[in-house]
Amino acid sequence: MKQHIFLASPHMSEEGFEQKYIQKAFDTNWLAAAGENLAVFERQLADKTGAKRTVALSSGTAAMHMALKAAGVGQGDLVFCQSLTFSATANPILYEKAEPVFIDSESDTWNMDPEALELAFEKYGRAGRIPKAVIVVHLYGICAKIEKVAEICKKHQVPLIEDAAESLGTTFRGKHTGNFGDYGIVSFNGNKIITTSGGGMLLINTENAEEREKKVRFWSTQAREAARWYQHEEIGYNYRMSNIVAGIGRGQMQVLEKRIEKKKYIFNYYKTQLADLKEISFMPQTDANENNCWLSVIQLDDSGKVRPLEIMKALELEDIENRPVWKPLHLQPVFQNYDFISLREKLAVTDPFMGADNSVAGELFRKGVCLPSDTKMTDEDLARVCSIIKSLWG
Ligand SMILES: *Cc1c(COP(=O)(O)O)cnc(C)c1O
Repeated sequence: MKQHIFLASPHMSEEGFEQKYIQKAFDTNWLAAAGENLAVFERQLADKTGAKRTVALSSGTAAMHMALKAAGVGQGDLVFCQSLTFSATANPILYEKAEPVFIDSESDTWNMDPEALELAFEKYGRAGRIPKAVIVVHLYGICAKIEKVAEICKKHQVPLIEDAAESLGTTFRGKHTGNFGDYGIVSFNGNKIITTSGGGMLLINTENAEEREKKVRFWSTQAREAARWYQHEEIGYNYRMSNIVAGIGRGQMQVLEKRIEKKKYIFNYYKTQLADLKEISFMPQTDANENNCWLSVIQLDDSGKVRPLEIMKALELEDIENRPVWKPLHLQPVFQNYDFISLREKLAVTDPFMGADNSVAGELFRKGVCLPSDTKMTDEDLARVCSIIKSLWG
């Protein structure tokens, strides 16, 4: 039988830290939405990333929803959002019946193009419309041009939300992603760099961070007013992380650096071993950006011998997980009625796969493959993946 290789799977500590904190929650009967694990896990995230305030929630998506609400986004409001990302980045905009405008990526970082963002501000500014928030993503652990994006948001006095779901541990000039804007979100879903089986964290860095934190805690625990009876003046949510789940996170924080190290090792292994294949290029890295290398992602030349689908199929045949690059949200049927801002013109001719799309985000999707980047992979596993890929070039 062929040995299965995961794309990215949960990896608990060898020392059993997580079990210890879960057991403690059981022993003390702190099993619900309060307790030591929660308090410690929230503090660990603040200490690690430098966030002013942190709130542990049931998912990264819930954290994004709370970030949008905390930024004041409501019905009919405009939100500028990176197109190249997972749908969970943008779904909460629709939960609030606000209007997303998708922004193209740039090829240096694969993330939001600051020039396209400026273009969006100009276009909507002419119609007298200013967005209530901007959402930038640090996709695959690659830091966006975050100083530039933050500067543009500041100039227009619009709150910036960073989707750092995939980039815990990624820094830019030593500063952690998720802390350049007003809000940041982290995910602890099963495939992320550390996991709590499912969960998220909201990072708050506004001037009134303490007040915003209070408000998020209120909304995420059913919006109960201070009264003897259940009094509700706002819509609430059941988004709080449990003390058991936080125990897993508390243990995982002790191995975060180890996981990042292994992710970087995997990336460098691929980069070295596949260096001879000139049709393959790797996701960008810069000196200033310390990338957590959550997934190792490659791009294939359009004019090359091998297409991305061939690599994906060849790996699949050997029971090795892999994935295309995220399909941009402006190309998703569910978001087809929303605007998309790009520096590039649409094509005159349409292609059966990409339509008339000529965006940077679309190109990254079309040319990309996410290679297995599971921290449990051995050198033999990595060698197996590389040899399958190399064999396609004969
Ligand atoms: C995983 C992910 C999310 C959502 O996080 P969940 O914890 O799964 O809800 C949001 N954005 C991006 C970019 C992600 O990769």
